[in-house]
Amino acid sequence: MPILVMKFGGTSVADLDRIANVAAKVQREVERGYNVIVIVSAMAGKTNELVGWVNKTSDFFDAREYDAVVSSGENITAGLLALRLQDMGVSARSWQGWQVPINTTSAHSAARFVSIPRANIDAKFAEGFKVAVVAGFQGLSPEGRITTLGRGGSDTTAVAFAAAFGAERCDTYTDVDGVYTTDPRVTSKARKLDKISYEEMLELSSLGAKVLQTRSVELAMRYKVRLRVLSSFEDTDETSGTLVCAEEEIMESKVVSGIAFSRDEAKITLVTVEDRPGIAAAIFGPLAEAGVNVDMIVQNISEKAHDEAHPGAVTDMTFSCPVDQIGKARKAMEQAKASGSIDYTDLVVDTEVSKVSVVGIGMRSHAGVAAKMFKSLANEGVNIKVIATSEIKISVLIDRKYVELAVQTLHDAFDLGTAGEAV
Ligand code: ADP
Ligand code: ASP
Ligand code: MG
Repeated sequence: MPILVMKFGGTSVADLDRIANVAAKVQREVERGYNVIVIVSAMAGKTNELVGWVNKTSDFFDAREYDAVVSSGENITAGLLALRLQDMGVSARSWQGWQVPINTTSAHSAARFVSIPRANIDAKFAEGFKVAVVAGFQGLSPEGRITTLGRGGSDTTAVAFAAAFGAERCDTYTDVDGVYTTDPRVTSKARKLDKISYEEMLELSSLGAKVLQTRSVELAMRYKVRLRVLSSFEDTDETSGTLVCAEEEIMESKVVSGIAFSRDEAKITLVTVEDRPGIAAAIFGPLAEAGVNVDMIVQNISEKAHDEAHPGAVTDMTFSCPVDQIGKARKAMEQAKASGSIDYTDLVVDTEVSKVSVVGIGMRSHAGVAAKMFKSLANEGVNIKVIATSEIKISVLIDRKYVELAVQTLHDAFDLGTAGEAV
């Protein structure tokens, strides 16, 4: 029997009616001849509620207990969907991560897959079960504790199962009908893409498009999983949604394919640090140890210190990180200063910034994208604070209040509302 993986996100299983709707979609695929592995998220809002409970209960929470609590939302939906399917006469059972078992590392709240042995689920399929409903987002550590995979992790569970079971496809059902040129909630001109390359989707996800968890795209690319994003609220068929696939399959040519943004960023500047070999390591080493995800980095041109207390060459070092890591970052820098490994006159924090990025594999062979991006933003009076580029993306850090304006402006500037020419 061919295997199909179907994943349903939080809004798709938000209440009992929606779970019934999901069950009908699963039943249809069973009738088409598939053995189906369904990966479910927690009901919409449930994981946030659980995270809130943990935060209210303990300041210095034990990450193992955090995972024990926040993984539980998925257990409920897995059981309910299995019940609903059984009621419809479809032979199904639920699986929690440890029962499969989904073996992960012990990095609690950010665990990674180690292995997903097929034997237990295969044995059930061999007995005649048609559907395995698996709780997404969770796994089992080598120490025998429940782990979670980071927010949005059910996408990654789905792709990992598709790879482990050689599934024909991994269909990710959500509250939009595919991957768009940008978040359709920000501009009505956003256009649904029929296909997008793994590389571009990986950039869009890692730059803030939460429609797929970044790690899920990484896994899909590595294991060549045909990954599809489609609506759980519409009738769909094989051609619906957006297929994330190899570059060679893409028939449309556009220099820029999409725009992503990450709203909650922060910028820290260390003012007047010594400009000497080893200073970057002395700053970013402690930040890494503290678990700060440093993103963009700018070091100003060195100048002679005007301040007698700091003779020699000095510079300013600026970096960005997620806004909720500001406390950790500040503490790491203050400790490094106290220990004498770095010195600075001031630490300036800006918590009102966001990152906007344009992404496209066409940038590899086309010049002028950066100039166009900067000019469009300038025309709207949007000041760019930090810039970062790579082969297929350009990111800028701007004031948070301009995010929507910047995304809409760039969407127009790169003409993303209309389809590119076929190649
Ligand atoms: P689920 O709960 O099903 O996992 P998510 O909320 O995690 O769903 O992801 C779907 C959301 O991703 C959409 O509602 C949409 O607002 C957002 N999104 C961001 N960028 C994009 C994009 N480029 N294309 C489609 N959706 C996007
Ligand atoms: N329920 C988890 C979350 O909200 C995992 C997921 O939905 O993918 O992050
Ligand atoms: Mg999600």
